[in-house]
Amino acid sequence: MPVSGTDLGADMLIVDCDKCIGCGVCEEDCPFGAISVENGCAVVGDSCTLCGACVEGCEPGALFMEETEKRQTLDLDSWSGIWVFAEFRHGIIAQVSFELLGIGRTLADERGVSLSTVLIGKGVDAYGDQLIAAGADIVYLVDDPALDQYREDVYGNVLAQLIREKKPEVVLAGATAIGRSVIPQVATVLGAGLTADCTKLAIRKDDGMLLQTRPAFGGNIMATIECPHSRPQMATVRPKVMTPLDPDPDRVGEVVRIEVENKILESGIEVLETVLSEQEQVNIQEIDVLIAGGRGLENEKGFDLIRELADELGGALAASRAAVDAGWISYPHQVGQTGKTVCPKLYIACGISGAIQHAVGMQSAETVVAINRDEKAPIFDIATYGIVGDLFEVVPVLAKRIKEARK
Ligand SMILES: Cc1cc2nc3c(=O)[nH]c(=O)nc-3n(C[C@H](O)[C@H](O)[C@H](O)COP(=O)(O)OP(=O)(O)OC[C@H]3O[C@@H](n4cnc5c(N)ncnc54)[C@H](O)[C@@H]3O)c2cc1C
Repeated sequence: MPVSGTDLGADMLIVDCDKCIGCGVCEEDCPFGAISVENGCAVVGDSCTLCGACVEGCEPGALFMEETEKRQTLDLDSWSGIWVFAEFRHGIIAQVSFELLGIGRTLADERGVSLSTVLIGKGVDAYGDQLIAAGADIVYLVDDPALDQYREDVYGNVLAQLIREKKPEVVLAGATAIGRSVIPQVATVLGAGLTADCTKLAIRKDDGMLLQTRPAFGGNIMATIECPHSRPQMATVRPKVMTPLDPDPDRVGEVVRIEVENKILESGIEVLETVLSEQEQVNIQEIDVLIAGGRGLENEKGFDLIRELADELGGALAASRAAVDAGWISYPHQVGQTGKTVCPKLYIACGISGAIQHAVGMQSAETVVAINRDEKAPIFDIATYGIVGDLFEVVPVLAKRIKEARK
């Protein structure tokens, strides 16, 4: 993966052995250990990411980047418009699609272009108006019995063909199981740049550059990535990161029905059965009150304690990765960088330190209550209310008080 944001497909690192003096500075400069001096000349290995660090430090000018033909010939101006891939599951449009239409509307207005959405499936014909009310100007509907089950090869082919035909400059999708499987495939087929799990998106009005911000290096920095040499610019965004618009039934838009050739609908995948996973049954992203437990709960039984609080408040259980890794609760409950991003009205963190990788998944909760015996725990920096104390004493008292108050 390019860490500098340069388009790997569009650059080459060249070594001019006539100029190279074999000084080895490039070996030291390369953060990826991808360059070595052999027989007096620098040799670039497979782990090169084209970050350019070696080029900057090369005094004799023996290392330089060369643009490939692709960069010189791609007509970026012929690509226009913002697209959202709308996800359709179990007869409903996924909430993340509405959230993407919210940010998509902002980007389209900023750039002065249209916002379109693509909805693929069987029986999706009736959903065009809902997507227009959510902000779309154009809805491309691909409705076919062969699209009943999600199969990534077919969905990918349909989407890639539409993109080739209509040439949008930006394509957004949810960082969901479906988005994460189909979008990289489409990006690969199109030779497009893709940034996964963006937490912020903006667009440069003059040249349409999508500024894609996401956590990097284990969540310790936020990197803003650009794809200057390829189109479309593709990004996935996790559910609950962006805000949907209030639906406006009076919004006017166009619904375009797309027919696809049979050969595009052919799949190498046979779906034998579809089973709702536990993940879908416990969707902590849809719940208003979450009681989250961390390593401070000490063991699986600790979750029984906070479950009482959750039951009292009509909420659900969430967890830090430490609790999930310890096997006290299953992964669908995990909040954070490698878990889910949640935005409940109330988040009660019990025995959670508030590491950055956890905080990125819950810091936009409306109200955060933290219970921790360490007054210096970082969770208190994001908490609306903090209780310094032993959770095994605090939680039962809190549950009792809530019960009394509700009576
Ligand atoms: C690449 C990467 C991705 C990661 N992704 C995630 C992620 O998605 N989600 C996530 O959560 N983490 C993630 N982590 C791990 C993260 O860095 C932390 O290690 C983890 O969040 C810590 O979990 P914790 O707060 O439960 O445990 P700890 O950090 O051990 O904190 C336990 C807290 O409980 C308090 N405590 C202990 N006993 C009591 C008591 N009796 N009463 C009150 N308080 C008590 C302690 O004071 C402490 O603050 C990731 C890490 C990496 C490197």
